[in-house]
Amino acid sequence: MRFCPECGAPTELRQPQGDHRIRHVCTACSTVHYQNPKLIVGAIPEWEDGRILLCLRAIEPRYGFWTLPAGFMENEETVAQAAARETLEEANARVEIGELYSFYSLPFMSHVHLLFRARLLDLDFSPGEESLEVRLFAEHEIPWDDLAFRTVRHTLQRYFQERKAGSYNFTITDVPPPG
Ligand SMILES: [Zn+2]
Repeated sequence: MRFCPECGAPTELRQPQGDHRIRHVCTACSTVHYQNPKLIVGAIPEWEDGRILLCLRAIEPRYGFWTLPAGFMENEETVAQAAARETLEEANARVEIGELYSFYSLPFMSHVHLLFRARLLDLDFSPGEESLEVRLFAEHEIPWDDLAFRTVRHTLQRYFQERKAGSYNFTITDVPPPG
């Protein structure tokens, strides 16, 4: 951040009094502009025959890779509303949001990922603006080598294992930096 969103003056990086971190602080109006982690919220839409809806990404990062519908939470919505909205935007698909299933902290990129179990309500889906293709995958059809994100792969692996075992367990996972 180079300029203050409040007044347009340049910002500087400094540690405000009583704070323990370096912040963007306006040189004119002294407003401290805090930057906090972003929430990425999504769904695991399951059709009644057990297949899962995935989206082929039409945007970077990871253009051309498959993912669960998910995206940045907006202001003034609940996390469940965010998951349903992202599913509608990316796959034109209606879901009933169920239990929270996965919670990932990615401190190296200041992200938090939340994924909900979800029931796909009908088969009237199609690619949204950010998707090249959307389709249902049975477990043996999941394109494991072409999934966009580690959190999506981890969640789907757990999901299929736990579905076989007959009970889903909400899990909190800390994700290390890649490589
Ligand atoms: Zn300012």
